[in-house]
Amino acid sequence: ELLINQIAAGEVVERPASALKEIIENSIDADATRIAVQLLQGGIKQMRIADNGVGIAKDELMAALTRHSTSKISTLEDLQNITSLGFRGEALASISAISTLTLTSQKADQIHAWQVQVDGRSIKQPQPASLTKGTVVDACDLYSNIPARRKFLKTEATEYAHCEEVVKRMALVRPDIEFSLHHNGKLRYQFRVADILQRIESVLGDEFVQSVSSIDERAADIHIHGVVALPAYSRASRDKQYFFVNNRFVRDKLISHAIREAYRDVLHLDRYPSFVLFLEINPADVDVNVHPTKTEIRFRDPRALHQFIFHSINKSLSASSR
Ligand code: ADP
Ligand code: MG
Repeated sequence: ELLINQIAAGEVVERPASALKEIIENSIDADATRIAVQLLQGGIKQMRIADNGVGIAKDELMAALTRHSTSKISTLEDLQNITSLGFRGEALASISAISTLTLTSQKADQIHAWQVQVDGRSIKQPQPASLTKGTVVDACDLYSNIPARRKFLKTEATEYAHCEEVVKRMALVRPDIEFSLHHNGKLRYQFRVADILQRIESVLGDEFVQSVSSIDERAADIHIHGVVALPAYSRASRDKQYFFVNNRFVRDKLISHAIREAYRDVLHLDRYPSFVLFLEINPADVDVNVHPTKTEIRFRDPRALHQFIFHSINKSLSASSR
């Protein structure tokens, strides 16, 4: 079981940032409105994520750490209509296989919290703990039991940068949630609840939001909204490209191509602009189950989607450049 978890962990928790992403997604799925992330040494030494979500009942704590145990999917139809971020039921098991993990949680109707600890080999019975409503996931010494993998980690600064990127993506997609990020005891970011433009500004800077064109287009079963940088935004480079499909960060050639083509068509510029775009689409029209890390995606009708994105951005840029 441990070996299986370690193999699976290879995909789900390739590096600290991938573990962090899974843990934050769980907090979001638990309806948290406040998520606090504390990292030590790029997340390698420790990552501690505290949320104020619904919590996990005492008798479900052990199950939450077991592979293929998910509270989010019970039928095959569910799998085709995924609205929660997690659904594989392997993230916590995988993380616990490569770290020393402590899970503490309190449901609103419990009088105190319960805590379970996994040290890679064994899960101990839940112990009483104290906490206010919500969940704390505390993972220490990541990969220390897998020297081969540990060797592949980059410097602390690089691993931290990846973690920061994960928090920024989550912050962009959920301006209704407060996020904070500490690294080595120092507060690096605090994103208070805001509207989307304010949130984009606090995540990506005011220079960015001052030179963007807004997009808000709908068709049957599909909605795109967000902003794309105008040429005046000097740092129109690859570093600020955020595309979310049903709240999930996605990297996709088809989407990048559609955006770039629109830019070329309207502004006659061969650039790869910065953008923050949100696409809402019928979950049945996308397959998010392509890869465990889930930044890849498959669309049922890629041509129609390409056209829709191209036209939406084209329209917005045309209006802005008039
Ligand atoms: P998945 O998210 O795919 O269901 P995970 O291994 O990530 O699988 O989590 C297992 C289960 O643990 C979840 O289905 C959920 O019931 C519970 N869980 C994990 N993290 C939290 C949290 N922060 N708040 C409430 N429940 C959680
Ligand atoms: Mg999950």
